[in-house]
Amino acid sequence: MDYNAYRRKTIPVRVGNIVIGGDAPVSVQSMTNVPSSDFGALYAQMKELENAGCDIVRMTVPDMESVKVLAEIKASDVKMPVVADIHFNYRLAIEAANAGADKIRINPGNIGGEDRVKEVVRACNARNLPIRIGVNSGSVEKDMLVKYGGPTPEALAESALYHASLLEKNDFDRIVISVKSSDVRTTIGAYRLLSEKCPYPLHIGVTEAGTYNMGIVKSFVGIGSLLSDGIGDTVRVSLTDSPAREVVEGKRLLDGLGIGKSRINITSCPTCGRTRINLIDIVNDLEAHLDEMHPSREIRVAVMGCAVNGPGEAREADIGVAGGDGDALLFRHGEVIRKIPQDRIREILTEEINKL
Ligand code: SF4
Repeated sequence: MDYNAYRRKTIPVRVGNIVIGGDAPVSVQSMTNVPSSDFGALYAQMKELENAGCDIVRMTVPDMESVKVLAEIKASDVKMPVVADIHFNYRLAIEAANAGADKIRINPGNIGGEDRVKEVVRACNARNLPIRIGVNSGSVEKDMLVKYGGPTPEALAESALYHASLLEKNDFDRIVISVKSSDVRTTIGAYRLLSEKCPYPLHIGVTEAGTYNMGIVKSFVGIGSLLSDGIGDTVRVSLTDSPAREVVEGKRLLDGLGIGKSRINITSCPTCGRTRINLIDIVNDLEAHLDEMHPSREIRVAVMGCAVNGPGEAREADIGVAGGDGDALLFRHGEVIRKIPQDRIREILTEEINKL
């Protein structure tokens, strides 16, 4: 189903050459983890991320040296929008905006007063830049922690709305918000609350999700639940691993939900005692080959083990096979085409997909 059919309506916000929110496709983000003062390392990592399919990259900007490197990155052939991640220092936010950042991530309530917020807003307005407010469990204000008894979904959402109100006072609405917790259910609850209370696009993710093994499980459950509800406009799969891996997993997550860029959707059965073809190898081999194809519309491929459920699923697909004993029946749009030997299933399915 088209994501926009059930997606929560949000104000579209432009970040460089990408739009977050509105009807725009859900984008995938990551964050660099080399020193932002080291142009060579940062450039190499950003190019790696770009090649992995990253839509938007974030870099920390803790000092003026990093601002200089940010300007060099923006003058280079890195095409992805670059987000400057700023903590507390409003001057660095202004400098990063002037240096060419495409978005500023800052929490306006933490920068020392309304005059400073005004100055940051002025710098962002001069270049039409958006601001991302990023609240997480560790950054919730003390009074809200007391009010709610801890970093609950309510506390996270209220904190984010408080930061947003400081920008709204300055007639600023190019806002993107995140409310991340390392606890999956708290994260889901916070975004659900927030999505009911504001029209801004949401950057979703589970923060500090952990290692590759567990981090992708937490991220897929958290982000996947929200996107299934129509909540979320851009995602980051946060992993204690390489940023490029975050991007690959972010894209897989979107593909798994049927809202990503891969237009090939493979249905395959888990195999059982009835299976008489080498289905596991066949389907893995097929998937590896189809990864290289980029069709203009969604193509559904079914690879089923036997004649019990096989023909039914295969008929639903654009192209499919239902396994026999060492061979398989080939279906196209519900019609049986012919019997094919199992050692040619991958090759014949690829040929048939090319004909569609
Ligand atoms: S489709 Fe056939 S082989 Fe595959 S799991 Fe179902 S019954 Fe078993």
